[in-house]
Amino acid sequence: MKSLLLPPHPKERRIVFKNAWTQGYTPDIECYLKDGGYEELRKALAMKPAEIIDEVKKSNLRGRGGAAFPCGVKWGFIRHDDGKPHYITCNGDESEPGTFKDRYILNNDPHQLIEGMAIAAFALNVHLAYIYIRCEFTKSAGIVTKAIEEAKAKGFLGKNILGTGFDLEIYVHQGAGAYICGEETSLIESIEGKRPYPRIKPPYFPAVLGLYMSPTIVNNVETLCHVKQIFKLGSEEYSKMGTPGDGGTRVMCVSGDVMRPGPYEIPVGGVTLGELINDVCGGMKPGRKLKAIIPGGSSSKVMRAGEVYKMKVKGPDGEMIEKDVPLLDITMDAASLAAAGTMIGSAGVIVMDDSRSMLWALNNLNTFYAHESCGQCTPCREGVLWIDKMTTRMVNGEGIAQDPITLKNVADNIAGRTVCAFGEAASWPVQSFLEKFPEEFAVGAK
Ligand code: SF4
Repeated sequence: MKSLLLPPHPKERRIVFKNAWTQGYTPDIECYLKDGGYEELRKALAMKPAEIIDEVKKSNLRGRGGAAFPCGVKWGFIRHDDGKPHYITCNGDESEPGTFKDRYILNNDPHQLIEGMAIAAFALNVHLAYIYIRCEFTKSAGIVTKAIEEAKAKGFLGKNILGTGFDLEIYVHQGAGAYICGEETSLIESIEGKRPYPRIKPPYFPAVLGLYMSPTIVNNVETLCHVKQIFKLGSEEYSKMGTPGDGGTRVMCVSGDVMRPGPYEIPVGGVTLGELINDVCGGMKPGRKLKAIIPGGSSSKVMRAGEVYKMKVKGPDGEMIEKDVPLLDITMDAASLAAAGTMIGSAGVIVMDDSRSMLWALNNLNTFYAHESCGQCTPCREGVLWIDKMTTRMVNGEGIAQDPITLKNVADNIAGRTVCAFGEAASWPVQSFLEKFPEEFAVGAK
């Protein structure tokens, strides 16, 4: 089978994306079975549920949706003595601007997801699971629904899976196309048929009070595919691919002003930002220079070209020392980007060159967030609209000298004062763009 795209870059290691990019590979179950599909489910069904959770913990898999929370630890929060049913909901709402990986899996390799979910379900004593797919992914919903039927017909889902006595039904639930449904409690409300207002945490942590007020694990599409790969490779080999505490590979979606934008699956920490942009993605467009990077989807804080970050790194004797690290030398992993004051989020890397207006770019993001606020809490409902109105006015050349100060003030009063993290997601771009590119927000700046 030949790759549809460029052959893997030497920095890449395609495991989750292996089939999605293979010519002649189709989403049909026969194709998946020829590639050894569902063998890991067989292995897992022969294990004890606690052993499966332990393997996932040892793999150091972190969630690939945005929060980068350790997956095995999250699974460990489920209580098994409360007599309630347990649920898994797979987050296929993929709507963070700059992020485009899950839909490739849903469209091209749905059985990998189903197998990962079935392993997770057996580990967590789940008999009913949902795959939540945003409504714009109509094609994906059809492909996944067909794949579920195929898996059921072959005995990998439904009653008495592979003769083990374990039962599992998976249903596709199509959303109505709201960014906020990527927030786990909002997604749960949506599956329950309600308006998707996020729930307040505490007390509504899904692992405790999730779907139908029962323990629920919400994992994103890529994360659940990695579960299958952990059982294929073994947790030890899987964890070795990443950094301590952050194992495996990550699909990094690079968009913007690079020569070869696209999704690249790379071991966690296997590239620096410079290697990702200049080596893997072929560098900036001819005659252009790097201006800014948004490293983890639109809500992560922007980084400015030429910046040097004070970061704690391992010294020659293994002790932690403070060091100046230039932007392009920062590695693409959760810990390094957090140390640089931003986050890996969904690993949606947006690259901007020196032709871009940062005011225009921020206004674009503000318009998105103003449209997507669910409206439940006042600071977000009102604040993101004000922010969008202000930057729209500035883009139209009607800004006033006070605008950058007012923008910061409004953003500072949204973040940390809302029901869900959307407040931060909408405020961080405003705060970081103003901090990193103040000259572009001064009224009269071009
Ligand atoms: Fe809704 Fe925004 Fe409040 Fe989140 S922060 S609950 S999106 S209004």
